[in-house]
Amino acid sequence: MKAFLDKDFLLSSDTAKHLYHDFAADMPIIDYHCHLDPKEIYEDRQFENITQVWLGGDHYKWRLMRSAGVEERYITGDASDREKFQKWAETIGLAIGNPLHHWSHLELKNYFGYEGALNGDTAEEVWQLCNEKLKGLSARKLIVNSRVKALCTTDDPADSLEWHQKIAADASFDVKVLPSYRPDKALGIEKSDYLDYLKRLGEIENFAQLCDALLARLDFFCSLGCRVSDHGVDAVPFAPASKEEVEAIFRRRLAGQMPSALEEKQFKTALLLILGRAYARKGLVMQIHFGVIRDNAKRVFRALGPDAGIDSIGDQASIRSLAAFLNALDETDELPKTILYSLNPNDNAAIETVMGAFQNGSAVGKVQHGSAWWFNDHKQGMTEQMTSLANEGFLAGFVGMLTDSRSFLSYARHEYFRRILCELLGSWVENGEYPNDDKALKTIVQGICVKNAERYFDL
Ligand SMILES: [Zn+2]
Repeated sequence: MKAFLDKDFLLSSDTAKHLYHDFAADMPIIDYHCHLDPKEIYEDRQFENITQVWLGGDHYKWRLMRSAGVEERYITGDASDREKFQKWAETIGLAIGNPLHHWSHLELKNYFGYEGALNGDTAEEVWQLCNEKLKGLSARKLIVNSRVKALCTTDDPADSLEWHQKIAADASFDVKVLPSYRPDKALGIEKSDYLDYLKRLGEIENFAQLCDALLARLDFFCSLGCRVSDHGVDAVPFAPASKEEVEAIFRRRLAGQMPSALEEKQFKTALLLILGRAYARKGLVMQIHFGVIRDNAKRVFRALGPDAGIDSIGDQASIRSLAAFLNALDETDELPKTILYSLNPNDNAAIETVMGAFQNGSAVGKVQHGSAWWFNDHKQGMTEQMTSLANEGFLAGFVGMLTDSRSFLSYARHEYFRRILCELLGSWVENGEYPNDDKALKTIVQGICVKNAERYFDL
């Protein structure tokens, strides 16, 4: 029996161990999609205690605690930080097989030097140790100690990006902190607060002005090093309409009239196509996240708002719409480099085959299947995503892992991913399915760990 979380954690064969320890472990990190707050990076935020780092805002952990029957008071309520930590420790101590158990223990080991197991009995010892070590840690130290070379935050077009500018001007910190352009609110014509949002973009009196404002903000983002955009949609929309129809839908919305379901789709299709063409012109990568049902438990939503741990996988993604949308951009050779993420793992093979239809010599893996996302961000989900990519496409060109996280401790997830990657590749070599060719394997492993992303995002 192996010891818990030993140096060969998740690595079962000699080849897997070799690939991980000799090729993957020491590679730097490019975290091309995260939700870190640039203000906290600029101000080099410190944390008073481990509950603030771990449980403040982490809806993955909230869900697990609720599933373990913990009362809300100890999750998002008014219990003390120490009480919340106790409940978390009791929960995670029994969460066998859950990726949070692995992530949390990797974080304890990598950042706090704790090699034991967190549970109700060890909670006090871990609480003391972490809080002591946190005094010497800060946002920037955690980033630098994790060997992060570049990270891309997620930002609204109306954001001032003042913190990105300040970080770029600070010579004492040489990690690239780049904004990513995420105009979901500008596309959210069906939302009740849409008109309030538009005011943040300036004087908008028609659709053409909306497009101009968004493209001007995109130029500004690019002037600060933005390399990637991001869109979160329930399903990729595709409902073509004439310019006049889209203009009329938008004007009616400005006058207070809500769009029909078809009009919403037509508006979003038109705006997404305009943005997609702009990304192609500027060499930006377009990310599309889909297949989610958000805010399912309305009672919790009313109390806590969005991102409260009440979202789920959806089955509404239309592969036909996705293919038609990509084709609409490709028809005029204006399809940008694109990364597709579906929350529904049943979409894996279909996504792979749609991607394959739009690949060409302009980039390695021009259309990418994004790393196993959110509810799939675990050993099985990652293994399935990479196996599916290998089955239908070119795994060696995969841009690899991202944290998608709000926490400065989440870089441990890159280690988790790299171990799973090396275990998978190692198993194929051990089974004689791929030659034991060290040169090729090193290229593949280091490509997926970091080099592909560096090239793909042109960093
Ligand atoms: Zn994200």
